[in-house]
Amino acid sequence: MAKDGIISGGCLCGACAYSTRAAPIDIRACHCRICQKATGAPFYARVRVPLDQLSIKGPIGWYSSSEGLRRGFCPRCGTSLFSERAETNSIGLTMGSLDDPDRFQPTMHIFTASKQIWLKLADDLPCYEDFPPV
Ligand SMILES: [Zn+2]
Ligand SMILES: [Zn+2]
Repeated sequence: MAKDGIISGGCLCGACAYSTRAAPIDIRACHCRICQKATGAPFYARVRVPLDQLSIKGPIGWYSSSEGLRRGFCPRCGTSLFSERAETNSIGLTMGSLDDPDRFQPTMHIFTASKQIWLKLADDLPCYEDFPPV
């Protein structure tokens, strides 16, 4: 993992883009149903970074998916980009939208109680049925 490099990414059509010089806060794969619905994917892998250090360009659409959390997406092509928690100054970046998708890997799986049943996790990462221990 590059220590001082810029983390950047964007949507499929190119209308929305983001970048930060900050280091990730944490990197997780969430298997909860809200993340499945919000991303349209079997699970949500995301790199969480400080919100106040992320620059965002483009016409981001936002949807409040639960208390204190809103999801950002491109209103033109539909790419799921962000999960923002303003109260903790953090924002998750969808790993599929990263410009360098192989740069990071999750350190744990969370909410595996609702993991899709066909999916066999073989990466030996810690798994938590709901929230991880603080
Ligand atoms: Zn787009
Ligand atoms: Zn989730």
